Amino acid sequence: MSGKHVVVVGSSAAGLFTTLALSQSGHRVTLLEKEALTPCESPIEAFEKWERRGAPQTRHSHAFLARLHNGIRDRLPVLYEELKEAGAETLSFKTMVEEIHENPEFVPEDDDLVLLACRRITLDWVLHRHVDKHTDTERRIGVEVSGLLVHEDSGSGPPRVRGVAIKNEDGEMEELEADLVVDTSGRNSQLRHWLDDIQAEEMEQDTESCGIFYCSRFYALHEGVETPPLEGPIAGDLGYMKYAIFQGDSGVFSITLAASPQDDSLRQIRHEEAFEAAARKLPAIHRWIEKDVSRPITDVYTYANLKNTRRFFVKDGQPRALNLFPIGDALIHMNPITGRGCTTSWVSAWLLADALDANPDDPLAFARDLDEGIIREVVPWYESMRMQDQATHEMAELAEGGEDPYSFEREDGTVDPKAYMRSLLRDGVMPAMREDIVIMRAFMRVFNMLDAPSDMLAKPELLPRILAVWQRREERPPVNMGPSRNELAEEIESAVA
Ligand SMILES: Cc1cc2nc3c(=O)[nH]c(=O)nc-3n(C[C@H](O)[C@H](O)[C@H](O)COP(=O)(O)OP(=O)(O)OC[C@H]3O[C@@H](n4cnc5c(N)ncnc54)[C@H](O)[C@@H]3O)c2cc1C
Repeated sequence: MSGKHVVVVGSSAAGLFTTLALSQSGHRVTLLEKEALTPCESPIEAFEKWERRGAPQTRHSHAFLARLHNGIRDRLPVLYEELKEAGAETLSFKTMVEEIHENPEFVPEDDDLVLLACRRITLDWVLHRHVDKHTDTERRIGVEVSGLLVHEDSGSGPPRVRGVAIKNEDGEMEELEADLVVDTSGRNSQLRHWLDDIQAEEMEQDTESCGIFYCSRFYALHEGVETPPLEGPIAGDLGYMKYAIFQGDSGVFSITLAASPQDDSLRQIRHEEAFEAAARKLPAIHRWIEKDVSRPITDVYTYANLKNTRRFFVKDGQPRALNLFPIGDALIHMNPITGRGCTTSWVSAWLLADALDANPDDPLAFARDLDEGIIREVVPWYESMRMQDQATHEMAELAEGGEDPYSFEREDGTVDPKAYMRSLLRDGVMPAMREDIVIMRAFMRVFNMLDAPSDMLAKPELLPRILAVWQRREERPPVNMGPSRNELAEEIESAVA
């Protein structure tokens, strides 16, 4: 083992996973966090005390996909047990299927379709404690990185980083040397400016709005009350609004509603009365928030200005600097609605540790190796999210113009391929998931990042099954997912009034 000293900037999911992956390979980590997190004895206390201004999304609903669940279970079994001791639960595909299918036929790979259910603050609290107990990491909180230090003799290649400049716990400037700096400071990372300061080539980025804002509220089940039976999908898309219930730990769950920031009526859901009124109108949710089942334990948290962003730290095989790499949200972040950020951070952390182990003394090869891994394992998810958001945007535009986005037969008898795909998804894939375990499994494996987005199309047995369900679309009564947009807007207006 090469035993490098690595400085990790930012102690949230990506930073903590990177610390654990590097520690497993025998590297020494200094983990820096600008926020002064109050030490807490339990995740419950942390949920009350941690404001997380540096990572406000940690106060929102979080889903932890099977790829992350399995990774923790298989690579870090002690951490897995600690999460369970802290109240984390698991949500298995088998249990979900048994609720809606009689005598389902399972296959061995279904054992891997298991999500981790806990509050995000609980995950982070357990991770911090695990890092302290089981690694020799120096964890420094209330320390803000303000720039990069470079070797003077970089020559004609990219600048060679030798550490970071920090404002330390006492507010004083300090220099911290490192063999490698990993930027996990999140979507608002200042790395582009830090690179400018050391005269590195510009780090380009693609970025576009996701077209939604998020509202989340947490509830506690009353003592002795079980979670209500599912009366519909646990998450859904009404076209004008997305919703989901997230099971957490210790009898706590949360509800997230997401809508377009352009919709003035729906924007009101950031207020408690409007949020509650909207949630009560959704068939999948209303039972969960009835007074005899649960009580709200937080305000409604909002998160605006959500973006899909990819930064190009390596371009045409050339990293912007050596001995440095950004991962997690600092490199790629996407619409959180599919709950992928922590899982992609986990995947990237292990790719980073593997790339370092494979190229301990060759920073250029390390950067190229890691970049290839990210392009292979993370970028396809980002691209699929962008395409999904573009499709949602197109549908909203058609609906606003009074057109039916699902009507695929044109007047001249030809077929509109995009509308046909939308119809196939709504009237084929969605109902097939409820009727056919094979389709549900294929969808859930992709959703949980166990199979790549392209794998669904690559399985020839799926299309005929989906088409068979789609062809019976006229015979099926429509599923009641919720009210129309105008009905809901009226409900919200009267709640606010
Ligand atoms: C509304 C919302 C909901 C989400 N829901 C889900 C979900 O359901 N499932 C899921 O997997 N993911 C979800 N995500 C994404 C997930 O939260 C992130 O992908 C995940 O936290 C990994 O991010 P990160 O660690 O790279 O950065 P962050 O979590 O943003 O953390 C960055 C850290 O760096 C610190 N920092 C910043 N600058 C400095 C500095 N200069 N010096 C020192 N420290 C610094 C910050 O204080 C912070 O602690 C959601 C995101 C949002 C916005």
